[in-house]
Amino acid sequence: MENKKIETNIIIEQIINGNKNFVQGRDNKYFEAFQNHQNPLITMVSCSDSRVQPNVIFPDATNKIFMVENIGNQILLSEGSVDYGVFHLKTPMLLILGHSDCGAIKAFMNGYSNEISSIKHDLSYFEKVGLKVDGSFDNNTVVSNVLKNIDYQIDIAVEKYNDLITNNELVVVGAYYDFKNDISSQLGNVVFVNVNGEKNIDKIKQLALFKNLTDTEKDKLIIPYYRSYRNNMNFQTDFAVQRN
Ligand SMILES: [Zn+2]
Repeated sequence: MENKKIETNIIIEQIINGNKNFVQGRDNKYFEAFQNHQNPLITMVSCSDSRVQPNVIFPDATNKIFMVENIGNQILLSEGSVDYGVFHLKTPMLLILGHSDCGAIKAFMNGYSNEISSIKHDLSYFEKVGLKVDGSFDNNTVVSNVLKNIDYQIDIAVEKYNDLITNNELVVVGAYYDFKNDISSQLGNVVFVNVNGEKNIDKIKQLALFKNLTDTEKDKLIIPYYRSYRNNMNFQTDFAVQRN
């Protein structure tokens, strides 16, 4: 307990110092710009995982990302919050961000019947995703399941926000924050895997959404290494071949 006490003192110190630095680095204008309204670009459904933060996209996501977080980046767990971003704040983009080594996915794969009811509740939504749960816990299976979950979340969004998407008022983007080189060659890359339900790599590359990217950038950032997980092909073999 004593240790824990010292730890929390240090944490408070870190909070105060961190905030001090934040305040010192900003003038009044910074805060005045958003004192009475917010105007975010993105409604982002991300995982609560502490390794996944908005600064993987924006150094300062203030007034840029309307952040919705829960375990496993699930729309239905925070439906009101997601709707608020899309319908009220009218962000032009809904971004579903999955990530490497997702603990929520791994907990589900592990069998979660012994979890307390609140956690069981949140994980039970994965039952509908069709995740591979066959007792294998290798990283490729985790990656495959994270990607499947992203696809599933996009399917929900596409159905829910169909009118906005049809009117070009909203684009729904699925992305994967890769800090293990799971599907990317660069640690830390955010790679795109699904746009408005479109999973075909060639079709995604042709979208106006990516018109400012060079072909090299597209190759790096749009479903870089594989697509077989969606087709129930031999994931590991295909994965290994494409990575070489
Ligand atoms: Zn996660």
